Parts: sequence; C-alpha cells; structure tokens
Amino acid sequence: MEIRLDPLFLMGCDSPVSADFHARPLRSLRISVTDRCNLRCGYCMPEKEYVWLPKSDLLDFDEITRLTRVFASLGVSRLRLTGGEPLLRRGLPTLIRQLKGIEGISDLALTTNALLLADAAESLLEAGLSRLTVSLDSLDPATYERLAGQPRLDQALAGIAAARALGFPVKLNTVVLAGENDHEVPALLDYARSVGAELRLIEYMDVGGATRWTMNAVVERAAILERIVASHGPLEAESGRGSAPAERFRLADGTRFGVIASTTAPFCGSCDRARVTADGKLFLCLYAREGHDLRTILRSGDDEALRAAVAGIWGARTDRGAEERLALGRRTPLALAGELREDPHLEMHTRGG
Ligand code: SAM
Ligand code: SF4
Ligand code: SF4
Repeated sequence: MEIRLDPLFLMGCDSPVSADFHARPLRSLRISVTDRCNLRCGYCMPEKEYVWLPKSDLLDFDEITRLTRVFASLGVSRLRLTGGEPLLRRGLPTLIRQLKGIEGISDLALTTNALLLADAAESLLEAGLSRLTVSLDSLDPATYERLAGQPRLDQALAGIAAARALGFPVKLNTVVLAGENDHEVPALLDYARSVGAELRLIEYMDVGGATRWTMNAVVERAAILERIVASHGPLEAESGRGSAPAERFRLADGTRFGVIASTTAPFCGSCDRARVTADGKLFLCLYAREGHDLRTILRSGDDEALRAAVAGIWGARTDRGAEERLALGRRTPLALAGELREDPHLEMHTRGG
C-alpha cells in the first residue's frame, strides 16, 4: 500500500525537504548548462546530425542561480553541473562562483569529458568547484577514438592530470560495453588508482539517445565484478550506499571502486535527483517522456511562484523509469532517431546524464 506524504515535510532536524509520492526527498539537482558536445560517444550521440536547443532559450547565469536557490530552499544540497559538455559553456567559473554562495548547497560537482579541463581546472578550483567526475571509456587511443568519435585520449588524460595536480577530488566514469572496452576494466582500475581517482563502472543504459542500444552490448554488474576478481583478487562490498547510484567495493589493497547497475539492478527506490536542461525543463527521471517548463515561470513569475511550482511537481513525482524498463523483459532503445529529432529533450546529452 502506498503512503501519501505531504509534499513539504520536515526530515530529520531543521531543514524543510520536499518529498515525492514515494516519500523520496529532493536532495540532488543536476543542471545541464549546454546540450552541445565536442565528442560523439556511441552510447550517447551515435547519430550524424542533431537538433540543438535554440540559444535564446538557454537559461543565463542569473536564471540558473535563482533556480538553484529555489531548489536549495526545497532541500537540495548536492548540485552537479553537466551537459552536453559543460566546459563548452563560456564563463562557467563565473556561474560556479554564483552557485557556490547559495545557502544549503554543500557539494558542487561537475561531470565532464575532460577535453578542455587542462586549461579550465585552475579557474574552476578558484571559483569554488568541489569535485569532478570525468568520463573515460578507454586507455587505448584507437579504442578511445572508436568509442568517442574523436582521437582525443591524450587531451582527456592531460585534463585529468591537471585536475589531480591541483588536488581536485576526481571520479572516473566508464560505460562498460561488451566486446569494446570490457577487457580494459582491470587497466582502467589500475589507472584510476595511479592518479588517485575512484573508478565507477556503469552498465550501458537504454536511455534516450542510445539508439544503438541492445541488451547484448550490456556488461552486467556480475560480469564486471567477476572480471575484477579475476584480475585483482577478492573484493568486499562497502555498506552505507544511501541514495548514491554507485554500489561501492574495496579491493584487498584498499582500492575503492563503484558499479552503477542502472540497467539490471536499478535503484529508483532511493532516487533523490531532479534534472534541469539548459533551457529550463525539469525532468523527474532519466527515462521521463515529458518535462516541466520552468523557464516560462522564471521569466514571468517571482521566486515564490517558482518554488510553489517545483514543490508541486516534485510532490506528485511517481517516476521509477529504470525499474519499469527492467520489468519490460524484452527491451529496445527508449526512443528512435526520428523521435529524438522531433524532441531533443529526450536525449541523454540534453538532460545531462
Ligand atoms: N559530457 C559529459 C561527460 O561525458 O562526462 C557530461 C554529460 S554525459 C551525458 C554524462 C554521463 O552520462 C557520462 O558519464 C556518460 O558516460 C553517461 N551516459 C551517456 N549515455 C549513456 C548510456 N547510454 N548509458 C550509460 N551512461 C551513459
Ligand atoms: Fe558528449 Fe558526454 Fe555524451 Fe560523450 S557522454 S557524447 S562526452 S555528452
Ligand atoms: Fe531515478 Fe529515474 Fe534513474 Fe530510477 S531511472 S534512478 S527514478 S532517474
């Protein structure tokens, strides 16, 4: 039986937190700052041509800051900037400086492919960015180029090195693809350890944009773990996952890594994440077909109207997209290329991953 809670209730001691229909609190916000990208990863942007969001629709930095303040007042404490490739957005450190000052935001992270990171790292750090997640799918130049569509492995590695040299905490994200980079998992684990970063191995997801997705290309959590045990010996599961997407493990030498099994072992029950696209659409789930237009309210209403709208939308949230996909049994990509051209908001690179 479902228990319906009031959308705004008091969690723990003193901070008001919005809760959705399944009593999941609103704690985490991912804001996409651009839908453009300088790579073409096959699991995310495999098509030849894309329809981009009109520039005039993009939220400016003051709008993103107002929006974040409203989300923070509803319970969000963790903020992640993403894209497309967020480092393509001009003046990003200025935005980070603005966001850093918002009361309630204790963690400000960025997800990037690192191509522009070597030059940007210092200004990101100075602006107050807390940490970085870098997507890296291969250490072999030819495989990197095949998966990412560009021969840019050295540039990505230079970005990671620059960030680590400055002391940035870094996590590395690898989408594990059968027959493509699954044999590289042990080497990626060693590389992550050598640069002091934590590796997270991600199952290939059948999200919008992944038009080439098939279950045969997914390397399941169990197979990922088996490969690591074979190369690195026994591992121990860590407890205390909370609402984090990654299950964490520890090797005998203390090396930690994570597995994000969204495809075969979804974690919707604890999902506390909202996503806002660069043009101000709120999505309640990676798999949601429809978003909620916040830009119009931002541009015509006051912050109280925005706050009431977000609280109402989150309060009615029932989304459990990955669990529903799993229950389908036979799965095909979420959207066809034609549907994605009709509505680019369905794309993973638009809603930010
Ligand atoms: N461009 C940045 C990057 O790649 O880090 C940020 C945006 S990207 C959409 C965010 C994350 O989504 C990346 O870590 C990427 O690996 C992940 N992603 C995209 N498509 C995916 C898919 N089909 N399955 C699993 N993860 C995916
Ligand atoms: Fe670009 Fe990131 Fe998508 Fe790769 S995963 S195409 S880097 S948005
Ligand atoms: Fe959250 Fe949707 Fe992902 Fe489930 S599928 S964890 S509800 S974003």
